[in-house]
Amino acid sequence: MSPRPSPTPERAAPTNPPSPALAPGPPPLAGGTQGPDALRPLLHTVLDALHTGATHRAGPLPAGGPDTVAAHLRDRAGDLLPTRGTGPHHALRTLVTAVAAGAADPADPLCAAHLHCPPLAVAVAADLAAGALNPSMDSWDQAPAASELEALLTRTLAHEIYRPHPSAPTPPDALVTTGGTEANQLAVLLARETNPHPQPVQLLTGANAHHSLARAAWLLGLPAPITLPTPGGTLDPAALDAALTGLPGPKLVAATAGTTDAGLIDPLPDIADITEHHGARLHIDAAYGAGLLFSDRHAHRLHGLDRAHTVTLDLHKLGWQPVAAGLLAVRDTTETTALTHTADYLNADDDTEAGLPDLLGRSLRTTRRPDILKIAVTLKALGRTGLAALVDQVCDHARHLAHLVATHPALELYDTPTISTVLFRPTGAPDSHIAAIRRNLLTEGHAVLGRARMDNRLWLKATLLNPHTDPAALAALLKLVEGHTPR
Ligand SMILES: *Cc1c(COP(=O)(O)O)cnc(C)c1O
Repeated sequence: MSPRPSPTPERAAPTNPPSPALAPGPPPLAGGTQGPDALRPLLHTVLDALHTGATHRAGPLPAGGPDTVAAHLRDRAGDLLPTRGTGPHHALRTLVTAVAAGAADPADPLCAAHLHCPPLAVAVAADLAAGALNPSMDSWDQAPAASELEALLTRTLAHEIYRPHPSAPTPPDALVTTGGTEANQLAVLLARETNPHPQPVQLLTGANAHHSLARAAWLLGLPAPITLPTPGGTLDPAALDAALTGLPGPKLVAATAGTTDAGLIDPLPDIADITEHHGARLHIDAAYGAGLLFSDRHAHRLHGLDRAHTVTLDLHKLGWQPVAAGLLAVRDTTETTALTHTADYLNADDDTEAGLPDLLGRSLRTTRRPDILKIAVTLKALGRTGLAALVDQVCDHARHLAHLVATHPALELYDTPTISTVLFRPTGAPDSHIAAIRRNLLTEGHAVLGRARMDNRLWLKATLLNPHTDPAALAALLKLVEGHTPR
């Protein structure tokens, strides 16, 4: 017989037990009945740190440019893997303050470069609950109620696009994604998987399409897309017709409802007619534009959206969600069976036959956050009219900014905004000045503007997604640009 291992000294001699202060046991968890009490004091620290960080920054982004910001962050962060931890409050205070002080904050009206929205407080509060409960959307036994909420929400959103139609053979649905990129990838994948022909699917897009579509074709082993020039900023139906005429094999046309650069919407009904006429499949990337669906004033711009086989939505753009909040709506649910996949530990056939919902086929991901919780809470809290008001507000702000530009003696406007993007430039300035104005504003921490190349010229881009922006902030933005324009 081998000798029994001798007991550890701690077990053997409990005469001098470690005091609770020295050995507090594992840190508290976020879940269960104790979780909220453990979270409450930590949240106080987090909220104070967010406030302190924003106060330190005092602008839409930190001043000084990349080297200065990086040096500050390194100083404040210190050793990220110390031998002895600093404890939760110190770590939260230090790092949250550092990141907040160094943030480009979309809640600042002068932070308007990208489709990078300021998240609503209610959505962020709901996301906290998602983190605390931590359902994982790849199997029912990890997300019993969250999976049902996802099913309800995806059907609700799919019906916003594809109005219930009695003659439709199957109902529409939507898959949750990390954003427009993953949604576009899934759209191209579904086109590939439902293609009955031996030849591969040929993707056709406008030059205005998002770069993720070409990458999706590359990733999925499809031929490089045919890219049609879009001199007016949108896909020309006649050019599409000409490109499809005589093109052999299966085809996928991807149109855009809300281009990333200019917020323009391709002529969807005409494109749908031509695509249908040539027997091609249609995907519409409405990552930006889909938010217009909520607005009675603007929804008509998306006329024709329901004629697409698949539609990309991105509620971390015109939906005021924290990242990530993407969806791919599918006109015909049966097409998603291409994603069906079995892994014995998650969705064994006998479990599925016994009635446990099979979730694995709703994504290419396995472990997956319940991003639907914040979306569902937001839709319920604001309702259609509340969301419409936000959409209408940012569209109104864009029109107002465009008006200020158009009536400004030294600025040129690209066009009246379709959604909430305004392109403008100092009249007569060379492209190198435009690029320098943008970089100088970034370095000083005064404003975050984007850039876009249209008409073969470089423009400053203001993407207005902040419903709290006001005319004074918009005027201030133009003043800053004016102040940086070399004479
Ligand atoms: C932003 C955008 C995407 C990509 O979405 P992500 O959420 O960044 O992955 C795709 N298409 C369009 C038109 C976009 O504007």
